Amino acid sequence: MTGLQPTAVPSDAKTLDSSLGPVVGGDTAKELATAFGMHTIADLLGHYPRRYALRGESSDLTRLIVGEDVTVIAQVVSVTESEMKSRPGTMVTVKITDGKDTLSLIFFGKGKNGTKGSQNWRTKALHPGVRGIFAGKVTAHGNTVQLAHPAYKTFDTELDEVVIDPKVKRMLLDIVPIYPATARITSWEIADAVALALNALGPIPDPVPELLRASEKLMPQGRALELIHRPHASTDWQQARDTLRFIEAWVLQCTLVQQHTQARERHTTAREPVPGGFLDRFDANLPFVLTTDQQIAAAEIAVDLSQTSPMSRLVQGEVGSGKTVVALRAMLAVADSGGQAALLAPTEVLAGQHLRSITAMLGPDLTAELMPTLLTGQLPAAEKRKALLRIVSGQSHIVIGTHTLMSDNVEFFDLGLVVIDEQHRFGVNQREVLRRKGATPPHTLVLTATPIPRTIAMTVFGDLDVSTIAMLPAGRRPIESVVVSLGEKPHWFLRIWDRVAEEVALGRQVFVVCPAIAPKLAEEGQTLDQADGTVTDAAAPARAAASAPRTAPRPGQLASQGTGQPAAEKRPIHDVETLLERLRQHQPLAGLRLEPLHGRMTSEEKDLTMRAFAAGEIDVLVATTVIEVGVDVPNASAMVVMDADRFGVSQLHQLRGRVGRGGVPGLCLLATYAKSGSTSRQRIDAVAATLDGFRLAELDLELRQEGNVLGDSQSGDRSSLRLLRVAIDGDLIARARQAAQFLISGDPALRTEPVLRQAVERRLNDNQRSWLHKG
Ligand code: ADP
Ligand code: MG
Repeated sequence: MTGLQPTAVPSDAKTLDSSLGPVVGGDTAKELATAFGMHTIADLLGHYPRRYALRGESSDLTRLIVGEDVTVIAQVVSVTESEMKSRPGTMVTVKITDGKDTLSLIFFGKGKNGTKGSQNWRTKALHPGVRGIFAGKVTAHGNTVQLAHPAYKTFDTELDEVVIDPKVKRMLLDIVPIYPATARITSWEIADAVALALNALGPIPDPVPELLRASEKLMPQGRALELIHRPHASTDWQQARDTLRFIEAWVLQCTLVQQHTQARERHTTAREPVPGGFLDRFDANLPFVLTTDQQIAAAEIAVDLSQTSPMSRLVQGEVGSGKTVVALRAMLAVADSGGQAALLAPTEVLAGQHLRSITAMLGPDLTAELMPTLLTGQLPAAEKRKALLRIVSGQSHIVIGTHTLMSDNVEFFDLGLVVIDEQHRFGVNQREVLRRKGATPPHTLVLTATPIPRTIAMTVFGDLDVSTIAMLPAGRRPIESVVVSLGEKPHWFLRIWDRVAEEVALGRQVFVVCPAIAPKLAEEGQTLDQADGTVTDAAAPARAAASAPRTAPRPGQLASQGTGQPAAEKRPIHDVETLLERLRQHQPLAGLRLEPLHGRMTSEEKDLTMRAFAAGEIDVLVATTVIEVGVDVPNASAMVVMDADRFGVSQLHQLRGRVGRGGVPGLCLLATYAKSGSTSRQRIDAVAATLDGFRLAELDLELRQEGNVLGDSQSGDRSSLRLLRVAIDGDLIARARQAAQFLISGDPALRTEPVLRQAVERRLNDNQRSWLHKG
């Protein structure tokens, strides 16, 4: 796990790097590996409790709720043991009563090596009349609720018969850690394993240098691990968490700063434009003047490219801020020096669009000389061969493609620059694959239209330098954003399409965005009354929906839309197919050209549709978020987002950036059924209230907390952040970064801090491991 370091204790005490098997037992180790990918003590101890339960009153047997952790005090009524039919072993069923109601406990015993696996020790301990305390999760079996494998402690006349079970001891603790668990390994079992690991662990040295530990008022790491898993008071785990949180930030920042330093130490070819070369000729014909921010970013890139250490730079800027021009200029500088540049786009549609816009910007002469070449998975074999040839021969100086560019059979003549559009879809490791395609490490430029708050930039992109293009080119008209509250004003649904028709009548084009492709009921069990994001039981409404007759209005049912439906009724979310069908029949839109665009279409279909839309052959594009990134159709003036509450703040902002790119004023209608005042409504209101992407990104971060802000490639695996909350811990991350820079500037290889060095290595290994998992 992140932030822990091994130790070298001569005895048989275990270290953080010790395998789990010998410590927790083979079966448990296997479960932990399957469920969580854990292999070492460090992995297990990095599995922090999700929350802590105070062992309170015992629960009333008449009021048990399935899924809850309960502790009940009751008396055994009966106990039976029976052999299982499907596999060797027995099942013990114990009926207990609290005097008012009864509850079943169930224990399965494994028959090992051909034995029946009798549990007569258990039937003896839980004989009728015994009183005890039982704790576990309530599960449903048919119509009855039961506790499967509860932890228990019995009180008998003979007290020495009390079961000696570590679980029981923990039940008596004041604070019970509750771990993220699975059906196959429970929180109790994890706690058992953690206890075994903590007991077996020898003293562990700290990855945080002593001075820093003192100034940050941290406890030793070993103690923090003990207290986060086995606290005696709330203050224990709180302080432990603070310490572990800092350690997490510290190891992460040391890793990133060290990588940054090492990247700079690599040697590569400097790329400088030649007077009168491609770049000069391009600049001379540029129909506009670069904005100040573009000029600054361009200058920063030019300096980086002229160095013999590879550039690692992120350019972040609003949609339409002109990042592509800046990137293209960098490609031309590389071409001037005889090298090639590769532009990596997240989708085929975007790759195709990049090719078209780059060709247009270059003009016929430069295009002929630089031979921009498209390489995607969809190319016919003959064309692909031709493209590969142009790339390996060095004829093509600009190569544009999707992840296909990373495949083994793509060889470059002299790859000098890799430009990655939309970082969020590409992980650090994928960048690395492309990097290796250069004879010397190519310079890397990452473009993102997602404004990245400072703390995220530090956390996720800590190995990149950052240029920011904050201003939009002059003459760009601001986009007017309006929330259309269909919950409160259902008749506005019709107004939307009138407005769309007006826009088309002016010769403009419109995007309509739906959260789904085909009809489906509100997913994740979200119903209208829960539209504020307080979904509790995701499955229940879905189950109900499956059996209930479909009384809710169809999304495209124009006339009956929202005519006083009860709030809690399940309303289908809008989908491309249904809405398109209805809009095609809706009078105000009669005769207009409406077409779909979504992820279930083939790349070819998508590409054709996008081209037709760009060429003005389609009036209204009814689409999913496939249009989100990079689509540039200057004549598109309006966007309607249906069920806007289904989208994240940043996503809405990104979508909105697709309109108002030409000289015409943009309009964005955010249609939603979310009630005014609800959290999801507040998010939409915020998007409507500002065009400042950075402010929205910060807001998004606050709303989502530490959720999935790190993007696909950085989150969700074991190596991702555990305790750090990028939204809140900005100061802490900044302090850790500063300290890391200070330390590493004097000791790049971390020779003076072997424990830290190993922690950093562990983090990198973890990353690699999770990367391999994804294979
Ligand atoms: P981004 O990639 O950041 O979304 P683009 O580079 O695609 O933005 O630029 C959007 C549009 O603005 C393009 O049509 C581009 O030609 C134009 N553009 C870029 N920079 C300027 C500028 N400084 N002045 C006027 N128009 C510009
Ligand atoms: Mg762009």
